[in-house]
Amino acid sequence: MKLGAIEAGGTKFVCAIGDEKGEVFEKTVIPTETPEITMPKVYEFFDNTGIEKVGIGSFGPIDLNEGTGTYGTIQKTPKTDWIAFPLADEVSKHTGVPVVVDTDVNVAALSESRWGNATDVNSCLYITVGTGIGAGAIVNGETLKGLSHPEMGHIAVRRHEKDTFAGTCPYHGDCLEGMAAGPAIEQRWGKPGKDLADDELVWEIESYYLAQAIVNYIYILSPDRVIMGGGVMQQYHLFDLIRSHVVDMLNGYVSSPLLTPDRIDNYIVPPGLTNEAGIKGSLILAAK
Ligand code: ADP
Ligand code: ZN
Repeated sequence: MKLGAIEAGGTKFVCAIGDEKGEVFEKTVIPTETPEITMPKVYEFFDNTGIEKVGIGSFGPIDLNEGTGTYGTIQKTPKTDWIAFPLADEVSKHTGVPVVVDTDVNVAALSESRWGNATDVNSCLYITVGTGIGAGAIVNGETLKGLSHPEMGHIAVRRHEKDTFAGTCPYHGDCLEGMAAGPAIEQRWGKPGKDLADDELVWEIESYYLAQAIVNYIYILSPDRVIMGGGVMQQYHLFDLIRSHVVDMLNGYVSSPLLTPDRIDNYIVPPGLTNEAGIKGSLILAAK
């Protein structure tokens, strides 16, 4: 089956034609400007391609509730040109085929569970730490959503004793994203994370917040594996700091051999797929 896939991101739309096996036949990258500029290029890419369905992994917030009449419509977002844009309906109208949408992080989790670092487990969590923080969850092959989609980046965190930074989240100030996303690191220390690689306190504070979040996600969702990606996680030394904080914070409360110093390396892991995760996951969505 020929399928369309769109990875709709804050800086670029990646569009592809592929199949349910995750094979990508053709791909293009379109910058994210306004819907009026970006979307006609998206429609043109899919013109006369013979695709039967389209899957979209989108930035959010986006309505994923099929009962609202606004399924696949972008909601409140800092990218104000896109607020209320009916992404799924417009793509469906212009391609003439059904469209399935989910969040970018849910789609990445879907990809990882099919082809990446969570193929051997029934559930997983995919966390991205980049310009924002978001997470997607898979349980038995399905992405977790309900009333809306999870907004795991905006949970409250306990402040690190050496941190006086106010936080960057326009809604909550010092929520997880406000304290630990890439822009928070940059504002707190006056330079971007990649230029702070050797500063121990930077990563001690960063790992303290990310570990708290993971501990909360473990308590609430009990995922079989936690995958961490995004620009900030390019600091690979963060993985060991996070793992060690998670073990300490859990303090032995959850009985699993994976949540011990010996085995946690196999529990909190980097992604198995690199830049194709969004497109491949969107193909899975389209094949549903
Ligand atoms: P996006 O979230 O926009 O899709 P990224 O996942 O690349 O994009 O995240 C961008 C953020 O990650 C920026 O705030 C940037 O400073 C930070 N970042 C990118 N590369 C690194 C790195 N090597 N080390 C630390 N932080 C990084
Ligand atoms: Zn927030």
